[in-house]
Amino acid sequence: MAARHPIDRKLVVSPTLASGRELLRRLSLVSDGWIGFEVTTPRPLALRLSLPEMERAGLVALDAFDGQALLDEAMDAAMPRPGSDLRALVDGVGFRERVHDAIEALRLAGVGPADVEKARLADWEKRRFLRQALQRFEELLLERRRVDVAGLLRMGYEALEKTGGRIPDALDADILLLLPGLGTRGVAGSLIAALAARGAKVLATDAVVGLETPEPILWKPTKNPSTRSYLHAPGSLPGESEQPETEFFRAASVNDELREVLRRIAERGLSLDRVEIVSPDPEAYGAALHLLSERLGLPVTYAVGLPLERTRTGRVVRAYLEWIEEGFQAHVIRRLLEAGDLRPPRSRQQHAAAALARRFRSLRIGWGRKRYRSQIRQALAGVDRQGPGRQDLEDSFRRRQERTRSELEALRSILFPTLKETPTVPDRMGEDGKRVSPAELARGLRAFLRRVPKGVGPDANAREDAEHILERIEATLVRRTDFRAAVTVLRRHLTVRVRAGSVRSSDEVTAWSAEGGHLHLSDFEHGGFVGREATFVVGLDADRVPGFEGQDPVLLDSDRRVLNSGLPTSAELMRERVFRFAALYARLRGAVTLSHCAWDAAQARSLAPSPVMLQALRLAREDPALTFQDLDGALGGIVCAVPAVGRAPLDRDDVWMGELGRGGVMRSGVDAVSTAFPRLAAGLPARRALREGTPGPGHGVIEPRPDVLDPRRNPSLVVSASRLESLGACPLRYLQSSVLGLRPPDDPELDPDRWLDALRRGSLLHGVYEGTLRAAREQGLTPDEEAFESLALDVLGRAIQLTRDEVPVPGEGTLRRETGGLENDVRAFVRMVRRTGAPWVALELKFGLGDDEPVIMPLEGGGLRLRGAIDRVDEDLVGIHVIDYKTGVARDFAGTGAFNGGRRLQHALYARVTEERLGGEVATGQYHFPTVRGEHRTLVFDRLARARVGELLGLMLDGVASGSFVPTDQADDCRFCDFAEVCRVKKKGFGKLNSPMADWSQEHLNAGVWPAFGSLKRVRMFEG
Ligand code: SF4
Repeated sequence: MAARHPIDRKLVVSPTLASGRELLRRLSLVSDGWIGFEVTTPRPLALRLSLPEMERAGLVALDAFDGQALLDEAMDAAMPRPGSDLRALVDGVGFRERVHDAIEALRLAGVGPADVEKARLADWEKRRFLRQALQRFEELLLERRRVDVAGLLRMGYEALEKTGGRIPDALDADILLLLPGLGTRGVAGSLIAALAARGAKVLATDAVVGLETPEPILWKPTKNPSTRSYLHAPGSLPGESEQPETEFFRAASVNDELREVLRRIAERGLSLDRVEIVSPDPEAYGAALHLLSERLGLPVTYAVGLPLERTRTGRVVRAYLEWIEEGFQAHVIRRLLEAGDLRPPRSRQQHAAAALARRFRSLRIGWGRKRYRSQIRQALAGVDRQGPGRQDLEDSFRRRQERTRSELEALRSILFPTLKETPTVPDRMGEDGKRVSPAELARGLRAFLRRVPKGVGPDANAREDAEHILERIEATLVRRTDFRAAVTVLRRHLTVRVRAGSVRSSDEVTAWSAEGGHLHLSDFEHGGFVGREATFVVGLDADRVPGFEGQDPVLLDSDRRVLNSGLPTSAELMRERVFRFAALYARLRGAVTLSHCAWDAAQARSLAPSPVMLQALRLAREDPALTFQDLDGALGGIVCAVPAVGRAPLDRDDVWMGELGRGGVMRSGVDAVSTAFPRLAAGLPARRALREGTPGPGHGVIEPRPDVLDPRRNPSLVVSASRLESLGACPLRYLQSSVLGLRPPDDPELDPDRWLDALRRGSLLHGVYEGTLRAAREQGLTPDEEAFESLALDVLGRAIQLTRDEVPVPGEGTLRRETGGLENDVRAFVRMVRRTGAPWVALELKFGLGDDEPVIMPLEGGGLRLRGAIDRVDEDLVGIHVIDYKTGVARDFAGTGAFNGGRRLQHALYARVTEERLGGEVATGQYHFPTVRGEHRTLVFDRLARARVGELLGLMLDGVASGSFVPTDQADDCRFCDFAEVCRVKKKGFGKLNSPMADWSQEHLNAGVWPAFGSLKRVRMFEG
């Protein structure tokens, strides 16, 4: 055709622009070029034909977004009857999408509302719903002067009919060419038939022998089938046929399969632009190839693009949707800040990503949209209130203050515009949920994307495409719906592919084409047109090829048959798939390698090769009798991460894995890693020592430094009762927290069922008890009066309000539940006070804190400096009583003596402090449990019980002086320990814990072998 009509204008109608374009590129390689050729597809061709009529009638073509908005409106108008099955489904986003597809399919098949009405569908409710939705959709198209794809194709057809038997001028072509593979169904088929009637020629393509051509595919086979045309009839292959090279292999994963492809390319010395990879699953293989090619620095073009989520824009889109769906959790933003995916406007870009992420973390936002504003505003106000510390130089303080302010302002400029544009959405528990539209969410997302660096290549393309999609959603999808449904709609519209190369989106055609110097990945529809020297057809497992074609859930196969209008059934679609693969195989030239992935890691099952591989083997060996057993032999061993002996390594991974697997034995590689990474190597003996049991630094046994670590000898060490109790419970914990100063990160963690953790709940209740007793005395109220309880509940209400600013609330339901629980506990406190009285002489008696001098407790070996705060001191006729509130349960106290093996010291220490500070003699140290769980219990320790506390402290501090901080011998001590993760503590079930460190200690404590256990053993045995 090119030779016969070198300068005529030739319009080629192709199933897709990319496949037509690739064909022309191939033409330019094998003949005189593509002068005069132009590629189009049925839709733009119909638009060209119908443009004059559309302009005359003031009609506008619908895009996907307008289309969805109109279809939604049509569905709302056709609402099924209340109580029907369909009514229950109609707001679900999945159902709506399926109905959209069904209505589009009916329109493209040329089925109108009257046809649906007449059809005897089994489900009459569905028939009524579809008929009404279709009718309303057509009315809306008319009212709004819009044309959908089906309407466009029909108008194109009508325009053709009006022109008589010639090619219309609007097409600006001398010759019309139709590519095989075009669909001949419905209104598109009518248009193609009308073109053919006006002299359009169907180009011949490689024949498919042994399969019937499905009726709805335009097809014209060449007279001389190629060798690969005989895929489904290997026995019919003429004897003299030339047999092109065909290879087979299988791999353990998609990644291994692609690595093997690259290895073979390297071994054959092929340049990248002489190779095409064809896959039935361009999504999975495209993502894996992108990752691999980025690491290896290989240029690749993708016929169907890259999924948006492989780009920075895609990552940010996903993060934003997760952020608003999961209650605005701060860790999502922190991750983006750390990765540099969120940046302030150019004027504020002087801060490193890590510095902004650190500043953001210090705000302790946790979750909840309101907290972003309140925490940033409070922190900014706090910057102005800051003054230099005692050790600070004025200059350095000012610089630090300025940096803090500037970082906070940068965070404000990133987050506030997005929060302003994001509509109110339900919290994580689904409360406070108003209906929102995809348009409103798109506006918030656009504001968020403005703070994302544009990047280059696929990142820039993705940003451009996402911007365009969001703009259209904002303009069209304004129907308010359930929040989750709106998010799903947004997500689906953003599930798109973007150009991988440097080509901009404005060039619709070249953006998806194979480029010189690039490896090319395509799918079955586009594959084989580029005519490259070697083709790798990957992903040929039985699950993917021929795959599975399920029934449409709205228009069932039975409905399609009843409608009798050429709507394809699932079986017909499957036949077409099989045929299209055979057509692809027939057009492949040069060497072909077929492969499949043999293992599905997600489902932990093996994958069988596709039957088409067996057909290809039969054809390659010219033996139709071959079986899957023969194919198994041809596929050989499974290619895995360890390259086979003698294979050229692709990269460092291949070199490393090749060495590990040399000689057929898998080595551990530890020695090589240790040599290359000395710091890792240093950790290995430490890990061994931890297991082997010789007490050392890993177990908390360190070089003795009594002058530094023993509080009796170092006057700068002031300790609290809780620190000493921590030493009593587990010396290793004391070493980590009080000596090494380790702290867990202070990030609020979202627990949907809990607002306050035990520590914060306890401290809130302590504040309420103190505030109530103090206010009651000021107001002259006694506990027996009715107003006392109201006062206590008021104090609680205020404390809850204050704590809300500090600790974000996971949801209003959780807050309501916890507030109810706290009120019950406060009422329990009131009842207890009414029963036991509260003749207090001091509340929150602080000592050794701030400017106050510590209380010194004389011990053998030196004085122990104490600090802390005593909850309450009472005085009655018996004497002075020191009271400590406990908000847990009292059962841990049973049978544990006065000191519980060194874990309970507060009552005795506070008695000493009280005597020192207030004078007199303390009669008892008491623990009160004034909560519902605590059952109002009171535990009392008298003078006798606490008399030996000094002796016990001496034993404990002897361990400190000797550098012996061995772990506890009881796993239960690890239950609420900050270092549980460091010590690898795990839950065992039935409330039990598995603590390797505690087990190790228990094993050695009484063995009498290691002196390091001497102190802990004496402490545990102190009360017998
Ligand atoms: S987890 Fe257990 S062994 Fe480890 S420091 Fe904490 S209490 Fe001690």
